[in-house]
Amino acid sequence: MVSFSAPGAPRRKLVVGNWKMNGTRATNTGLLEALKSAGPWSSEICVCVPTPFLADVAASLKESGIAWGAQDCSGHRAGAYTGEVSAPMLSQFGCAHVLVGHSERRAFHNESDAVVAAKAEQALAAGLVPIVCLGETLEEREAGRTADVVRQQLEAVVDLLGEDVSSVVFAYEPVWAIGTGKTASPEEAQAVHAHLRATLFASTPRASAIRIVYGGSVKADNAAQLFSQPDIDGGLIGGASLKAVDFIAICRAAG
Ligand code: PEP
Repeated sequence: MVSFSAPGAPRRKLVVGNWKMNGTRATNTGLLEALKSAGPWSSEICVCVPTPFLADVAASLKESGIAWGAQDCSGHRAGAYTGEVSAPMLSQFGCAHVLVGHSERRAFHNESDAVVAAKAEQALAAGLVPIVCLGETLEEREAGRTADVVRQQLEAVVDLLGEDVSSVVFAYEPVWAIGTGKTASPEEAQAVHAHLRATLFASTPRASAIRIVYGGSVKADNAAQLFSQPDIDGGLIGGASLKAVDFIAICRAAG
């Protein structure tokens, strides 16, 4: 198995729940209370929630050891961009992370690699950690283009951010695995993560410290094997992050 992790590189595992456009104030309370009472966690845990819930979530998770974040931010700092939410606004709600370039944003909102990179730049400027999502479609995978597609998506971010890329978290999420119940095997996912890390090494000597998490139908029963791969530094969890018992089991699998 190919690995590009420098021996001993300290990368704390990160498990991020992506609630997508789900939840109510009442159901969120139950989910968060269950998470809080299942801690403390040795891995870093974060929930990325719909923007209108941020104030509630911030109040609930304050001093819990669980971080919170948003699912998108604008590629602009401020101005006439009706409907958009800026990274500095998210930072006022105590967000630690923000997802950018999720495949649902790329597909349904036509976000290009350049737009995703601009969002990552805004997030960093506001003191947030962007979690930049990358991944190939089924068609691209079947055409043998996975390595090229994810490298191109990665390089758009590296080209804009330069050395600052070392403050980014990347999420490899094969589009064909998101919400489908199909998961990349641990070996397949590891090979892509190692390829991403090797690409990062060409731009920064700090590549061994950059976290690359895996997303795509991670479940309680496949999480431990995925997370045990040398270049898989945790998970980005969609559907299973909405059920306390499942998300807690996944967080535990991260160690
Ligand atoms: C996601 O939304 O990022 C995701 C990985 O979803 P799921 O876990 O449901 O496949």
